[in-house]
Amino acid sequence: MTEPITVRLLDLFRIGLGPSSSHTVGPMRAARLFREACLARGVLPARVEVLLKGSLAATGRGHGTLTAILAGLHGWEPETCDVDAVHALPESLAATPDVSWGSGQTRLTADAVRFLSYAEYKDDVLPHPNTMVFTGTDGDVCAFEQTWCSVGGGFVREASEADEGIRQETAVPPVHAFHDAESLVAHATTWGGTFGSVILANEAGWESRPGEVREGLDRVWDAFRRCIARGLERRGELPGGLHVMRRAADMLNKVETGQVGEAYAHIARAQAYAFAVNEENAAGGRVVTAPTNGAAGILPGVLVEVSERKKLDHAVILDAIATAGAIGMLVKTHASISGAEVGCQGEVGTATAMAASALCQILGGAPKQVETAAEIAIEHNLGLTCDPIRGLVQAPCIERNAMGVAKAWSAAQLALHSVVSNVVSLDRVIKVMKRTGDDMRREYKETSEGGLAVSLPEC
Ligand code: SF4
Repeated sequence: MTEPITVRLLDLFRIGLGPSSSHTVGPMRAARLFREACLARGVLPARVEVLLKGSLAATGRGHGTLTAILAGLHGWEPETCDVDAVHALPESLAATPDVSWGSGQTRLTADAVRFLSYAEYKDDVLPHPNTMVFTGTDGDVCAFEQTWCSVGGGFVREASEADEGIRQETAVPPVHAFHDAESLVAHATTWGGTFGSVILANEAGWESRPGEVREGLDRVWDAFRRCIARGLERRGELPGGLHVMRRAADMLNKVETGQVGEAYAHIARAQAYAFAVNEENAAGGRVVTAPTNGAAGILPGVLVEVSERKKLDHAVILDAIATAGAIGMLVKTHASISGAEVGCQGEVGTATAMAASALCQILGGAPKQVETAAEIAIEHNLGLTCDPIRGLVQAPCIERNAMGVAKAWSAAQLALHSVVSNVVSLDRVIKVMKRTGDDMRREYKETSEGGLAVSLPEC
């Protein structure tokens, strides 16, 4: 594939709600787009039904897919919705099931969304492991139907369309037309800039008004810090019945009271920040896909810690976020950031690589070293399966983000101190991630039917 990469930076960093970008943010966006398609066609369904297949059916209950779809059918958006109102929807719809729909009303009830068992759809050829069929009915008659796929990181596409976000129509060609890591390194090196500056130069040509993307990155940075602050304020048990306790505040307290060795304190602090983000995510709070919700803690954990300790300029931080975004774009284009497609290597593996590249750049790494940091981070996450216990984005997900923080630090340091280039390039390791994901059995791809997900006795 040699066409230039046109994934948009702010599509990769979506401000939304937890606990899952593919199972919460994506379905909410798809439901809203279905509603808009109905309205555009003048369809006023008496009732809407949604069939969930694949990973959405297997783990959607734990991932909040039901409320996300109901919210999307109300026309709500992940970025702007009232998170508390979303969580209250099943109850409020039980009392008032008629929802305003254009000039009329349609009936929405919680049983409108069906989680199909594997036996019910296993003979279907799914267009993607996260598939949803929306049907607007009028009596027994289907008034309008669409099939949508949630392809990871909050991106969606209609079943017949190409992957949303990978190939975007742009009014002008990119200033720096890169199609893989090698050409990205070449552009940054020749131009004398960072990966982030390459991305921001391209984005500047595509903005609908000057400053749009930088303002968007300001909001992302603000959302990173707010999420950490909220996560550190809260204690107690996370929802879902797995009895997972919030730990972020206690972890940070140990760092701040000198109970963590000095040499490890900066990593322990970043891990506490990552815990704060992932605990907020698990509780359905406001988080940013980086590049997904399940892996949302690694990049903010690393960036907020290093920005505090080194008192970084705001411009340095935004450039580092854009560099991290470049790595996410490469993986999204040439492999996948969806746990349902390639397992957790695509989520936590990619997030670790994004954080490693951003950190390596902040610590003075040249573009080739920044590429190497991302490569090392992915290489040592290859084969990582997605096996969330009870379909909740809690165990192993929260600790896995903290491990991602430590790996990102190690990868950045290894890249900075390497005197020879790596045997495996970032482009190659991304291809290996894709092949490994293709070979992975479905039990290990966000179905909660294998690995850790089946390690606990049912009670
Ligand atoms: S195991 Fe990894 S990919 Fe799967 S839900 Fe958890 S964080 Fe996401």
